[in-house]
Amino acid sequence: MRKAGIVLIIVFLVAAGCRESSDIHRRTQYLMGTVVTITVAGLADEDANRAMSAAFEEIRRLEGVLTFFSEDSDLGRINAAAGAREVLVSAETIEVLAEALRISDRSGGAFDPTIGPLVSLWGFEVKDRFVPPKEEIERARTLVNWRNMSVDPNLRTVRLERKGMKVDLGGIAKGYAADRAAETLRRHGVSSALVAVAGDIRALGEKAPGVAWHVGIQHPREPGAVLGSLRIADRSVSTSGDYERYFIKDGIRYHHILDPATGRPAAASRSATVLAPTTILSDALSTAAFVLGPEKGIGLVQSFPGVEAVIVDREGRVHVTPGLAGKVEGLAS
Ligand code: ADP
Ligand code: MG
Repeated sequence: MRKAGIVLIIVFLVAAGCRESSDIHRRTQYLMGTVVTITVAGLADEDANRAMSAAFEEIRRLEGVLTFFSEDSDLGRINAAAGAREVLVSAETIEVLAEALRISDRSGGAFDPTIGPLVSLWGFEVKDRFVPPKEEIERARTLVNWRNMSVDPNLRTVRLERKGMKVDLGGIAKGYAADRAAETLRRHGVSSALVAVAGDIRALGEKAPGVAWHVGIQHPREPGAVLGSLRIADRSVSTSGDYERYFIKDGIRYHHILDPATGRPAAASRSATVLAPTTILSDALSTAAFVLGPEKGIGLVQSFPGVEAVIVDREGRVHVTPGLAGKVEGLAS
């Protein structure tokens, strides 16, 4: 999760037609270090507002539990106890960590929630970054290993085996928050909504009967332009890209999605967009697919039922899973 900073909205919503109908309510707040937009359709003002306030509140609550930037959050306490003892955490933290470990395993470690020491070393939150010395990258890399984190769902405890290890849920927490916000909206009587936590988007129902939500995929090299767009209902879509937080040094782009195998920014992709039944899954898999690159990334997502992907490789070529062929609107194919 990211501290306050400059954030570009990487996926934006394409309004159907020129004007939106009057029963569409939309609100934006800055949470989890990014822009969160909730759109609710088909409800009166008061009901829509009450539901949206509850959903934003749920995201704010989860941010407090899962943030990397506080010592009292579950994550802060887990990291402070690394190499020393296990820590009792909330059910939400257990749920996110268990899913993170499942994706670590399934992706062969391309996704790794113990990426913290490398994230801190590269420090993409800070301006005027430089490339860390090789020895420091190596030292941090030896601390990154999801197999050295134990999660006990029964006791609700988490333990990091080595001192200096750090959990960072930046690649999965926003997706989880989008799921929980959508669930909060549903409990408040909403049956049609779109929750966008930056590039992690959850569609609840359809926009209107017979009309799916329309979501654009940011073009990784043309700010403000779309690569293509997707129609989704009761599904999630997440995009991970190298264009959101990065610096350029000697003509090389250094960005915030790191390959645990090298300790450096993953170089195989420009962006990875994943469609999945839940946002926790689309978020984690978009990060994993980005790191793995087009061939292995497409292979990974296809091993999950109901999951599809669009991956832009390092040369700008677009790869899509067979299930999405011809379904990305506006994509030259
Ligand atoms: P964004 O945060 O831009 O939406 P991602 O969902 O891909 O993009 O998450 C990137 C964030 O995940 C990084 O800022 C960092 O906190 C964390 N991260 C970086 N590399 C990895 C990795 N290989 N596995 C898991 N998390 C990662
Ligand atoms: Mg992600």
